[in-house]
Amino acid sequence: MTVKQFQAESKRLLDLMINSIYTHKEIFLRELISNASDAIDKIYYKSLTDESLEFSPESYSIKLVPDKSSRTLKIVDTGIGMTESELEESLGIIAKSGSHAFKSENELKDGYDIIGQFGVGFYSAFMVADKVTVVSKALGSEQAYRWESEGAEGYTIEPCEKESVGTEITLSIKENTEDENYDEYLDKYRLRQIVKKYSDFIRYPIVMEMEKS
Ligand code: ADP
Ligand code: MG
Repeated sequence: MTVKQFQAESKRLLDLMINSIYTHKEIFLRELISNASDAIDKIYYKSLTDESLEFSPESYSIKLVPDKSSRTLKIVDTGIGMTESELEESLGIIAKSGSHAFKSENELKDGYDIIGQFGVGFYSAFMVADKVTVVSKALGSEQAYRWESEGAEGYTIEPCEKESVGTEITLSIKENTEDENYDEYLDKYRLRQIVKKYSDFIRYPIVMEMEKS
């Protein structure tokens, strides 16, 4: 499989995220949940003009699945999904959207609070994950695709199986280091706290199975 290179500007943002010393890495979850919510919104807006599409808010959700044994955190949505070319354009050629209002590397370097205020979108996942896998099936398409990246080296896209429309993002959470604890992003109570803090206003249900205690 050929490894595709990130566009230069994306790569800069990505490098910055990978090597980030930003202290509020937890905001990656806000970014991914907001993308999931946007993707559900898109189905909703489509349903307003497309009679064949029924929208019942109850059947749309954003699910969090942390798993300590595989050291992964999944964010699963029932949104509009991405086609192969949308995966390519949205995740490989970034920095064209509203939240990437800043451009130069210096601006990014001095602007750690920019991360907190405006967000850096999808790539913030690389602050906490050393591999990101996106499996997505677009509304109206038969084939699903898997986008995968371990960071600066590039990314791959290949066809895969996925039954329902939507997107499933799997973060392979980094190992703890001397000065960083990443285990917390696999802890349900901590995740719940982060959701409460940053994503309380999201209008679709954010669900996570909690063990009964
Ligand atoms: P922004 O949300 O500001 O556009 P992001 O970096 O957060 O920037 O996301 C880039 C793009 O990737 C989005 O605009 C969207 O097209 C696509 N995307 C990301 N996550 C999802 C998702 N869960 N479902 C569908 N599309 C997504
Ligand atoms: Mg976003």
